[in-house]
Amino acid sequence: IHFEKASFKDFENIAGQDAFTTASQFDEYLNFLKANGHLNYRIESLSPVGPEMNLMLPAYDRPTWSVCLVSNDYLGFSQHPKIKEAVIRGIQQFGTGSGASPAIGGHFVYHRELEKKIAQFYKKKDAILYTTGYTANSATLQCLLHKEDLAILDMAVHASVYEGCLTTNIKTFLHNNLEMLETVLRNAQDKYRTRMVIIDGVYSQDGDMAYLDKIADLTHQYGAYLVVDDAHGIGVVGKTGRGVIELYDAFDHVDIITGTFSKALGNIGGYVIARPEIITYLKYQSKQHLFSTTATPAIMGILKAIDLIDEEPERRAELWNNINYLKNGLIALGFDIGTSASAVIPVKVGDIFKTLEAGRLLLKFGVYTNPIMYPAVSRKNARIRMNVMATHTREHLDKVLNSFEEVDKQLHISKKHI
Ligand code: PMP
Repeated sequence: IHFEKASFKDFENIAGQDAFTTASQFDEYLNFLKANGHLNYRIESLSPVGPEMNLMLPAYDRPTWSVCLVSNDYLGFSQHPKIKEAVIRGIQQFGTGSGASPAIGGHFVYHRELEKKIAQFYKKKDAILYTTGYTANSATLQCLLHKEDLAILDMAVHASVYEGCLTTNIKTFLHNNLEMLETVLRNAQDKYRTRMVIIDGVYSQDGDMAYLDKIADLTHQYGAYLVVDDAHGIGVVGKTGRGVIELYDAFDHVDIITGTFSKALGNIGGYVIARPEIITYLKYQSKQHLFSTTATPAIMGILKAIDLIDEEPERRAELWNNINYLKNGLIALGFDIGTSASAVIPVKVGDIFKTLEAGRLLLKFGVYTNPIMYPAVSRKNARIRMNVMATHTREHLDKVLNSFEEVDKQLHISKKHI
């Protein structure tokens, strides 16, 4: 493996080489990245999630405060006093664990209340909880789709969707490409038992949105079902924070909604919302629900967080002020932010090592972002990704913009240099 051009993916499964040899080669690769100051995975924070965090940076041997644009805690709910209180009350009343999987004694009133509450939030009758958003997607798809079925995926869907489709047939269409989707749907007619189109609401790497209305029309025209994962939309998008489903008023046009409590809701856990018989089927048939312990009483904070989405709309307004300020600032500096229309903002760079170097320089200037590369995006599409929060101040965002300007002077990554 050529380290200069390698990515983590290249170490996944090397033909003819046993796992322990691959692991030592991978270790060498990590040392190579570290030597170049490019190993910024798993940076340890000594302070809570927030617009600034106290980080143990690999290049220094002491903690350093940085402006952070790496958290999906878009509304700052992980630190909200009322939500913390609800979590503490939950733990005082029910303790720290739930003791078992839901089938055999681990199902409590707070789980059921949350299922009902998140379903009502989307104007639906029932929902099922999973321990993470990742599991919600992978468990649901794995349970509903088999050898005789077809999953039709927007290429940019989250990794958990791909994982859920490992034991069914997969066809992909280029991101938001309606013509290609229609071709796949037309060719798949009568060939598969169940056909399911799976898309994200807001896409996690580009921060853009699905063409939900048109995709829903096409999907149903060809007799297929539509699944939407709106992990990044809930709390952020739509007049009342019901995500992309609200933006397109598509409450009655989506067959299955999935999502997570780990982003704007500031906690952890995944949910699936669908017509009651599908939810019942998942409750009795999906292995990840039957054989894995339910979430802890700390999820009682989510009940309060859902209320606060309605009670404190000013948080969403502050978030959007920040999103627009940062986006406009980056555009004015000549950066390519693609089609971002949410709190996820990428700065497109292209080359992997230039992206890693941009990430390193930004950290040096006190700005923590995520360099994103293959396999999360295609090989030539590396970028610096940022997540904006309601709790960022103008000073934070100005520091980000000034730092990007500095980085551009050194690396020539804006459109000015093309
Ligand atoms: N779907 C999307 C689109 C995501 O971005 C993520 C989070 N990375 C997930 C699902 C998984 O959610 P969780 O972190 O709760 O497992």
